[in-house]
Amino acid sequence: MPETFTDRDPATGHPRPPRREFKARGSFTERCAGCRLPVLNCLCPYQAHAESTARVWLITHPLEHHKPTNTGRLIGDVLPHTEIFTWYRTAPDERLLGLLDDPRFAPFVIFPDDQPGYADRVVGISAVEAAKGAGKVPVFIVLDGTWRQARRIFRKSPYLDGLPVLPLATMRQTRYRLRKPASQAHLCTAEVAAELLRQSGDTHAAQVLDDYFDAFNVSYAASRRYEKLEAPTPAMQRLLARSVG
Ligand SMILES: [Zn+2]
Repeated sequence: MPETFTDRDPATGHPRPPRREFKARGSFTERCAGCRLPVLNCLCPYQAHAESTARVWLITHPLEHHKPTNTGRLIGDVLPHTEIFTWYRTAPDERLLGLLDDPRFAPFVIFPDDQPGYADRVVGISAVEAAKGAGKVPVFIVLDGTWRQARRIFRKSPYLDGLPVLPLATMRQTRYRLRKPASQAHLCTAEVAAELLRQSGDTHAAQVLDDYFDAFNVSYAASRRYEKLEAPTPAMQRLLARSVG
């Protein structure tokens, strides 16, 4: 469902005329062309890049792509080699198919191990280490969408059927504030990528992505409350320090 921020009269359903808070509301709906966040708390000052050994390829459900609350795109902002593909059931992305055939890469589909039918393909994080040892670039293929959408992508994409399945094992709880999670254990896409990077040894890239996600999360949530952040959070301060140094 598209997000709307129009103030409506609950009795009539008609848009209300702007009142005193018009400026705050206006600056909330107005989005920055750079980061697509409300200009009230723009993310652009915190842009950061990091290098990682492992890469992330997102297969994004078409309904997820243009949601401003999508966190998959944050991964692409931080890690320059990130690939983002849109999933169409009957028309697989040709470039993705080509990359899956490229012997330089060792792709892993990130998916839980508690569904039936693929137990023989499930591997642990040590398989990522082994791929690096064999001179390959490990790739985390993250299915970007709701749990239902991700399951559909997993089930209905024959080109993923031959790949090892890597479940993310973590006790980490989500910090994502922009959507109500099904459970606190259900991490959003950027959190999943950060955790995979951390577990597979790309600790610096994981930290930068985590901080950038945190800045996004806090900025967006504040803008929803029509609140201008007065001071940068610790994660924001780390990102700022990086861009200066
Ligand atoms: Zn911006």
